[in-house]
Amino acid sequence: MYGKTALALGELLLLYLYKNVSTFDILRWCLNNYKNLEEVVMQVVDNQKIVSLEYVMSLDDGKIIDSTQGEPFVFLFGAGEIFPKLEEGIKGMAEGEEKDIVLEPEDAFGEYDPEAVQTIPQQYFGDETPVVGMQYYAHFEEGNEIPFFVKEVKDGNVTIDFNHPFAGHKIRFHVKIAAVRDASPEELEHGHAHHN
Ligand code: ZN
Repeated sequence: MYGKTALALGELLLLYLYKNVSTFDILRWCLNNYKNLEEVVMQVVDNQKIVSLEYVMSLDDGKIIDSTQGEPFVFLFGAGEIFPKLEEGIKGMAEGEEKDIVLEPEDAFGEYDPEAVQTIPQQYFGDETPVVGMQYYAHFEEGNEIPFFVKEVKDGNVTIDFNHPFAGHKIRFHVKIAAVRDASPEELEHGHAHHN
């Protein structure tokens, strides 16, 4: 993507060396070409782009629950790798741009469903002793695995919660577009970003 820029600057140098043009002409040439140069250099988030995204994710009370911490999340835009509303929110952002995006619970980890909380006999855990706050998986005959959290262990019964721990919360993302580049044909074919 810098090829065109380098060529343009080379042309400028040739103009200066061989045509003996005034600095005024060069200045005018630069102004005429500035927009083109900008278009060549600046990439914005869009379909078929590989986006390096830095984010800090927090709950409505400000508690930080996840962060890229200088290690951007690299993904193919439009391939459904992130929450659709988050994707919508960053579309059109330029490299280096920052923004706050707040997702409603239904657009993030879901609404909190009270019926997803159940009490089951502890013997379902077999030899394992369920630990409050730990995540487990329920295995179903069809081969499905559904995660749940243990909320309480009491009198031989275990209260389990199939809600995501962040269900019912608005989720705030502070995002920064660290980099944007065109996806390669292979990346488009595979539907994901390749890391160098
Ligand atoms: Zn691949």
